[in-house]
Amino acid sequence: MPAARVLSVAPGSPADEAGIAAGDEILAVNGEQLRDVIAYQLQADAAEVDLEVRRGGLEQQLVVHKQEGASLGLELAHAVFDRVQTCDNHCPFCFIHQLPKGMRRSLYLQDDDFRLSFLYGNFTTLTRFTEADFERVVGERLSPLYVSIHATDPDVRARLLRNRRGATSLRWLELLLGAGIEVHGQIVVCPGINDGAVLDDTLLGVLDRFPELATLGVVPLGVSAHSREPEMRPHTIAEARAVVGAVHAWQARFAAALGRRLVFASDEYYLLAELDFPALDAYDGCLQHENGIGMARTFEAEVRAALAGDDIATTGVRSGFFAAVDGAPAEGYRAPRRARTGVSTAPHGCQSHAGSRGIGIVTGELGARVLAPLVPALGERAGADVRLVPVRNAFFGGNIGVTGLLTGADVASALAAEPAGDRYLLPDVVLSRGRFLDGETLAVLPRPVEIVATDGAALVRAIARQAEIRRPGP
Ligand code: SF4
Repeated sequence: MPAARVLSVAPGSPADEAGIAAGDEILAVNGEQLRDVIAYQLQADAAEVDLEVRRGGLEQQLVVHKQEGASLGLELAHAVFDRVQTCDNHCPFCFIHQLPKGMRRSLYLQDDDFRLSFLYGNFTTLTRFTEADFERVVGERLSPLYVSIHATDPDVRARLLRNRRGATSLRWLELLLGAGIEVHGQIVVCPGINDGAVLDDTLLGVLDRFPELATLGVVPLGVSAHSREPEMRPHTIAEARAVVGAVHAWQARFAAALGRRLVFASDEYYLLAELDFPALDAYDGCLQHENGIGMARTFEAEVRAALAGDDIATTGVRSGFFAAVDGAPAEGYRAPRRARTGVSTAPHGCQSHAGSRGIGIVTGELGARVLAPLVPALGERAGADVRLVPVRNAFFGGNIGVTGLLTGADVASALAAEPAGDRYLLPDVVLSRGRFLDGETLAVLPRPVEIVATDGAALVRAIARQAEIRRPGP
């Protein structure tokens, strides 16, 4: 019988007052055995919640009284209490297959579970989706979902997923859209396989079969130095330009047919193609921001607004379902790593910055290209020398340049070459519960760093602290 382990209880919350403690296992809520936090939340919304709890091997009933819709005040250890549905595909471009050995186990989890798609925005191929899943999604309106399309040609899709079920599983997409579920799609493009004429055919297939799709992101495959797939290689500049060109051409067709652009190339494509990013309003609301689509323009807009003193809603990893309900950390499913705060209050490992001069912004190689045009204005705001500290990703190697995949060892090497006494700003996207992807903590870094939320306004706030830091203490 699946059980939900309580990770923590908010002091003074209804659960705390009812005597629930960290480490308790919830076996049933209102008499229902639960598979996941979605079902838990539906039950926990009631004004009177009857919990069957196991503590130290003993089972007991606890009743919590609260306002209907109010939180119980529990944080659960996992979002899925039974088993996460793992994928039955063997995609040659799968990044999990390209991870070095010896990383923490959760990073190797190949989930293909519609619940994690709903909760965290993970993409699912639907190859293991069932009639019962469909009924649940529609019945409970688990929307939006995120679906990996890759190709609409059945043979090409089966080849890309290395799974014959890949040829037919998009029938579920048709049914989900027909039932009014909001779905966002993704195409991972592998040069020579699903670009060129295949990409055109896929986008035509989307227009023909899935016109209700909310958005479609087109992203390049990542190839780490640990890939064992000889067919998988990074795009050339010409190939990246061809993909961007195809996306723009199809945006015009979708706009003419549907009144919206629907398809968007990821920021990484514009960097690979050495092309300017489209204007922010060309992303139609950046609905796949977390998938790296429109992130650069959004970040730029946030920085410029913050420098001008304007208020702008900052974007971030959407906490979605967990924003308002009892939740579970996404650890082990994917990595929304962003802290909720803007800037850490004290630089890690440093007591004083008196006399510090420069500010180094630590970032990945691709992030450096996004930030470079903003550096002069940031320097002016700080009244100090602001520079980028681009970190080469030696850990993964290959064409991996995004900031979110930096490891502690690589950040440490980059910082070792930087002068002591300067301030160093580290985006929180590189950390998950205080650890880098390689398991290292901030203790491995040879320079003190300040952790900054990965949005433009937080960066400007961190830069603006320069005057405060320079001011001599009492
Ligand atoms: S579906 Fe996702 S997790 Fe599974 S093999 Fe393909 S890329 Fe990897």
